[in-house]
Amino acid sequence: MSASRKCPNCGQWSHWNQNPTDRCEHCQSVLDPVAVARQQEREERRQEEEERFSIKFIELNPDDPWYTQFFKRIGLGFQIAFVSIVSFLLWLIALLAG
Ligand SMILES: [Zn+2]
Repeated sequence: MSASRKCPNCGQWSHWNQNPTDRCEHCQSVLDPVAVARQQEREERRQEEEERFSIKFIELNPDDPWYTQFFKRIGLGFQIAFVSIVSFLLWLIALLAG
């Protein structure tokens, strides 16, 4: 589906695919600056969330004695379980909020 949109910069009508990245055929300015800003904001928020929930996983060292490796594996198992639960809750919240 395609439409046309009046360029906010030069006032000419331009071909528009309803895509935030579409630009004016006449002056090359963004046709929908609000959508572009909104998209950037969403992208930034997504990156912030990824950083907040990124966990430093325990690294298994093959040179560790067996008992250290044993406890590290248990710790890693808890970490993975925790991340899974948090991901599930976030998915559930997104589902309920949507
Ligand atoms: Zn223009």
